[in-house]
Amino acid sequence: MSASASHLAAIVARCQQLFDDVDLAVPRAWKEAAPGRKVVAYMPIYVPRELVHAAGMLPLGVLGAGENLEVIHGDAYYQSYICRIPRSTLELGITGRLGFVDGFLFPSICDVIRNLSGIWKLLFPKVYVHYFDVPQNFADAVGGEYYLNELRELRDGLAELAGRPITDEALRASIAVYNENRRLANEVYALRAKAPWLAPTSEVYLLMRAGMVLPVEEHSRLLAEYLAAARAEPRPRRDNCRIVVNGVFCEQPPLGLIKAIEMSGCYVVDDDFMLVTRWLQGDVPTAGDPLANLAAAFLHRSMETSAKYQPDQALKGKYVVDAVKDARAEGVIFAAPSFCDPALLERPMLESALDRVDVPHIGFKYAENSAQMQPVREQAGTFADSIKLWSTP
Ligand code: SF4
Repeated sequence: MSASASHLAAIVARCQQLFDDVDLAVPRAWKEAAPGRKVVAYMPIYVPRELVHAAGMLPLGVLGAGENLEVIHGDAYYQSYICRIPRSTLELGITGRLGFVDGFLFPSICDVIRNLSGIWKLLFPKVYVHYFDVPQNFADAVGGEYYLNELRELRDGLAELAGRPITDEALRASIAVYNENRRLANEVYALRAKAPWLAPTSEVYLLMRAGMVLPVEEHSRLLAEYLAAARAEPRPRRDNCRIVVNGVFCEQPPLGLIKAIEMSGCYVVDDDFMLVTRWLQGDVPTAGDPLANLAAAFLHRSMETSAKYQPDQALKGKYVVDAVKDARAEGVIFAAPSFCDPALLERPMLESALDRVDVPHIGFKYAENSAQMQPVREQAGTFADSIKLWSTP
């Protein structure tokens, strides 16, 4: 094995280990490494992690428990006809796996997450629980003003938890750290879009997942190392078709599903996994009022997703069409968690937008612990074949 291949394998193995560890040993060890350290968890899809970082605390992304935990207690709190992420997250809490967490941010994405924030408050009264509301009106004078107030409230709450003020200077420095992380994450995505055989999505996914539990500086180093190793390692290019995966912005699919899509003959050249990593597009300015800069970036330069309101019907679905164009994709696979209202309600409109420009698509649903991947492989494989056989160049 070449040096770059073994380095690459070591990076991926480390990320896999972090992914598999439902006991969260690494963030737990981070907290124990120095007295007074605090950890603030957050759920998908977006929270301004810069604020947590500027308070000297560790932001910890909690994306459910995947396939690695049997949900026993969590089911008692929710009806069966909702997605799985709130139940497995509760399971992590009730079994004490999140017992070292000092704060928990629940971003505004859907009623399920909103209700989970209330349940968390009742179950864990000593934890700082904050429902982080975001505007669905993107005018500066309306949603912008509202969002700035939300950011101030969050900053003050986190400062109280940390026991020290979050200064503008510290926040500017944290914005710079996250700018670097976003740049590197975008570079990984760009490499995959250009040469997906060099950066398979099953690897890219694990790499981004590592960013949920590692300190951001360490994650940035890992991204840079992966980029260097992936570029140096020649890998065979296959006759796969290029597809965009959409609808996975909250409860994450099992890793097996991502692998099944790849093994069926598809290169994933864009996706909406872990949007928090790339939510703000481009650098957030580090000069001036840092809260105003974060607010402006959220309002005017953030990712499009089904969880964001688009009042203009003519623009509905444009972002998926653009993603196809930008990544030179040949089709779209809609994959969404079962019972996910934001993803599934929007899907027909996204499909119509693709139909209007003749982009083929298929769709299926999953749960984070779905085990049987053969049907997905068959469906995605047939889709890939049909693109190769019948799509016009
Ligand atoms: S998977 Fe969908 S419905 Fe479930 S919590 Fe996430 S956004 Fe809400």
